[in-house]
Amino acid sequence: MCGIVGYIGNEQAAPILLDGLKKLEYRGYDSAGIALLNASGDIDIVKAKGRLSVLCEMTDDGKTMNGTCGIGHTRWATHGEPSENNAHPHCNDEKTIAAVHNGIIENYAELKEKLIKRGYKFYSQTDTEVATKLVDYYYKKYGDPLRAISEFALRVRGSYALAVVNKDFPDTVFAIRKDSPMIIGVTGGAAILASDVPAILNYTKNVYYVDNLQIARLEKGAVTFYNLDREEVQKELVAITWNAEAAEKGGYEHFMLKEIHEQPKVVKDTLNYLCRDGRLDFSEVGLTDKDFKRINGIVIVGCGSAYHVGVVMQYVIEDLARVPVRVELASEFRYRNPVLNGELVVAISQSGETADTLAAIRAAKESGLKTLAIVNVVGSSIAREADFVLYTKAGPEISVATTKAYSAQLVAGYAFAVKLAKIRGKIDNNYYDKLVTELIALSEKLDCLMERKEEIQKFAAKTMDKQDVFFIGRGADYAVSVEGSLKLKEISYIHSEAYAAGELKHGTISLIEDGTLVFGVLTQKNLVEKTLSNLIETASRGALIAVIASDGVKLPVKGIDNVFRIPDVDEHFTPSLAVIPLQFFAYYLSVLRGNDVDKPRNLAKSVTVE
Ligand code: GLU
Repeated sequence: MCGIVGYIGNEQAAPILLDGLKKLEYRGYDSAGIALLNASGDIDIVKAKGRLSVLCEMTDDGKTMNGTCGIGHTRWATHGEPSENNAHPHCNDEKTIAAVHNGIIENYAELKEKLIKRGYKFYSQTDTEVATKLVDYYYKKYGDPLRAISEFALRVRGSYALAVVNKDFPDTVFAIRKDSPMIIGVTGGAAILASDVPAILNYTKNVYYVDNLQIARLEKGAVTFYNLDREEVQKELVAITWNAEAAEKGGYEHFMLKEIHEQPKVVKDTLNYLCRDGRLDFSEVGLTDKDFKRINGIVIVGCGSAYHVGVVMQYVIEDLARVPVRVELASEFRYRNPVLNGELVVAISQSGETADTLAAIRAAKESGLKTLAIVNVVGSSIAREADFVLYTKAGPEISVATTKAYSAQLVAGYAFAVKLAKIRGKIDNNYYDKLVTELIALSEKLDCLMERKEEIQKFAAKTMDKQDVFFIGRGADYAVSVEGSLKLKEISYIHSEAYAAGELKHGTISLIEDGTLVFGVLTQKNLVEKTLSNLIETASRGALIAVIASDGVKLPVKGIDNVFRIPDVDEHFTPSLAVIPLQFFAYYLSVLRGNDVDKPRNLAKSVTVE
């Protein structure tokens, strides 16, 4: 949440900052702003409420602003409404220090009171203005910009990625972070800072991941890192394998549509990384056969769609490997004092920065448990803190509603389940070979599904005025229903519920009215008839029903008109295919209703706040 950028070099900074912010806009889009040190050594600040495009227009894409050193921000408001006043950068009264911030300063009220007593005035409701003035206070007190930042860090609680410019240091950007992401690249006489990789890819593919409580001093073509005692620390560069085009729309109308179409590739890439010569190989993850053998229980933690991957994994792992699995929302797990008993804790997160998931693995480690991260971003906080890391190969995901990262996480989860089942002797060689072959064939089957999107598009056009949509299924079909329902809610703003089909009669069926749309997911052969009966029960009460069914599933000749078929595959892996029509359905409804598909209201990607 919130994107921050910083630049110091020989080029005009504003166009570079705005370009970087464009790549980070998925992280927040309430308002945007930049601060530059201009040729006369003063700080210029421009900010605007709303999308980044407003700021771009105001500054003619940055051309009207002069200066080669600056910082920028695109906001997802936590403290104070989205307004120009609350937009970052914030500055001191003399306008000699300005800062941008991603995160939450939890003790901001208390600090604000102290600063007011010392004569500070406040003009916004943000915690960031307090952070900025705290840095200013300590800079005035000690006259040392690094000390000002370390004193700030010693006094604030919460999370922050903070970038600061100071009139007394016209060729420098200072930065610090704690629990909010920050990377820094150095290239051809410049140094550039950002919340995430896509903003930097056009300049360099070698970046430093700033550690918690490390201070960075960016200068022309150089960056120096310090600890809180202001002693210099050495850091290693990390090479990024993503390319700049991967973070562009590439001719698609929306990132989401592009990312849906990238799923066959990311599934293939993720499996390639986990397979050697037709066998599952977790050596790059760091998990040896011995480690697998030791697993006697698993707790999966995640938020949103990553949690939904966990719901699928629970069905698949327990069925194949016969190891008990519990799946928990990371935000609950971290605070509820769970009873733990030597389980492996699997943390799933696209960004690797999800605040609650990060806290959950920290809690697990404190209880002495081993942790496995399934993350997409190399070098991210969760990746660095977990004992084992499985990198999904989804590439940069820009659309706020996840599609390809979910799919990559799913296949990573299947591969883990199959490997565990094999090592524990729960499946024989033949079934293992069959499962691996089926996994590898998923990519091609996904490709076929992309061709069927128009059927869904037409159905979306017919149902675009629905107020409520239900998704029902049993077993893995229920697990994928929860993701289909979330996708719809996120981007179409239509109310939706996912229910285990057997649960409908226990209350929810009272919500079914004439015309309510109910989707049934039917891929688990021994459960199809049961779910079909539940669907028909809703149709008898006026529901419009639709089904997503595997090719091999037989349906009654009469009574079900809206059928979307998916290729047959081993039943453990059907969520990977069943989710595709559900993603297209959400996508087309969002487009038809005129919503901003990639940047749905109130949401932002990479949830680095609690
Ligand atoms: N707390 C800051 C604000 O509300 C930054 C929010 C964020 O990083 O999402 O302006």
